[in-house]
Amino acid sequence: MKTGDESSIIPLGSTLGMLGGGQIGGFFAEAALRFGYKVAVWDPSPNAPAKRFASASFDAPFDDPDTLKAFSEVAVCASLEWENVPVSLTDGLQKLIRVRPGSRSLGLAQDRTKEKHFLTEQHIPVTKYAVIEKPSELGAVQLELPWIVKTATLGYDGHGQWRISNTQDIASTEKILKGDGPWVVEQVVPYKIELSAVVAFDGKSNLVTFPPTENIHENGILRISISPGRMSKEIARRAQDLAEEVIKNIGEPGVFCVEMFLLENGALLVNEIAPRPHNSGHHTIDSFTVSQYELQIRALVGLPLVQPEQVTPSVLLNVLGEEYTNLTDADTTNWVMKNRNARIYSYGKPDVRPGRKMGHILFSGPSQEDLLSAALETHEVLTKA
Ligand code: ADP
Ligand code: MG
Repeated sequence: MKTGDESSIIPLGSTLGMLGGGQIGGFFAEAALRFGYKVAVWDPSPNAPAKRFASASFDAPFDDPDTLKAFSEVAVCASLEWENVPVSLTDGLQKLIRVRPGSRSLGLAQDRTKEKHFLTEQHIPVTKYAVIEKPSELGAVQLELPWIVKTATLGYDGHGQWRISNTQDIASTEKILKGDGPWVVEQVVPYKIELSAVVAFDGKSNLVTFPPTENIHENGILRISISPGRMSKEIARRAQDLAEEVIKNIGEPGVFCVEMFLLENGALLVNEIAPRPHNSGHHTIDSFTVSQYELQIRALVGLPLVQPEQVTPSVLLNVLGEEYTNLTDADTTNWVMKNRNARIYSYGKPDVRPGRKMGHILFSGPSQEDLLSAALETHEVLTKA
């Protein structure tokens, strides 16, 4: 298939490309295999989890031109699971095969300064922020404390972020900031809850959105996602509308997640955009008629984007670092599985690292309260074991 052939449906049996081989790429691959597609995964790590499902795997760095060519010969189209894939790669691939989403959304999502400027230009409400080019500019920032300083690129799971509460922190953070800027300095918002909405767009007129998920973070890492989020219908509707407006304004086909803060006064602010399915949408595999991964495939291959319906409430608990080692203890696994609402998802990552997302446990059933207490109890067991 050549570019220009953007509206055709990619036939079952074709090989779909995935840039990045983490758990999101893995869930994409599982859904693609179910459809009857094959999957080619490109990730510099030979043991990347998604490669367990791949019929072709590429291990070269993302800037390797020979692999770009080889990948485009195996895969008829490509999507991504990680916003730090270089834009030069999607630019090059786009000339050869269909890439969804493309360089525009990738470029915005991988650079917080571009993302913030874009949202501001589009009159989308965001936290108050400043951009600094050098650490020494931190002292001159005119925002009310406290702040969060974030690297413009390559941050994830709270990495590349520093909290600043007072003038002493400003001085010490100036010394910590290394490498080339810029950095985004954000005012910390006293949000009531964090929420996110996953949107699938065909790039033209058809767009479907999941109801917002409520997210609880711990040290910048997502810990628990609750679906449906505990908010009024009116707030849920406004959050969906806001997420849809952002994705329509970007204008590219694909699956996206818009992270938001809900303030005490009911205002919603957009925190960041992911040009891919999201951790806070893993639950859609179990709790919706159509998952975010199936929508990623539909958007990629040109199949209809149908509106997902919720089949059950759910609470997702992320299993981080050594908690996973504890989970693999047979007695603990047995204890978790005694709860008929619980499902274990392991990502197949070869090594455990502190704070690394190793898997999740999805609790689904009629009573959200019961699900949440089971998740909290399990969290306690896994962190103490
Ligand atoms: P990433 O997910 O790429 O690590 P985020 O910008 O989403 O980076 O920050 C991670 C988490 O840190 C957010 O989900 C939120 O819990 C917290 N956070 C980030 N920015 C702010 C802010 N301006 N005010 C309050 N909390 C914030
Ligand atoms: Mg985030």
